[in-house]
Amino acid sequence: MKKQMFRERECIHREEGADGDFYNGVFYLQALQRLRVDDAVKMASKVTSFFWSDAPQILVWLCDDCAADLRLSDTPRAVTASGRRQA
Ligand SMILES: [Zn+2]
Repeated sequence: MKKQMFRERECIHREEGADGDFYNGVFYLQALQRLRVDDAVKMASKVTSFFWSDAPQILVWLCDDCAADLRLSDTPRAVTASGRRQA
């Protein structure tokens, strides 16, 4: 059985101690694509970039503000199978 590896990305506010959650990379991209182009560019500049083709293996940590900008509040939060967090 192939073990799925998740990689994590995060918005710039995590270091400041903001509250937030992990979201599936696919949901993040879908939300990004719903924004106007200039808003999407602004938003993407706040999150560590990754190849879009990798999105299914990416967990994106977003603070509550960034999640609200992306209107991700209705989106199911990312659930990792193991629930394991790397420090
Ligand atoms: Zn943020």
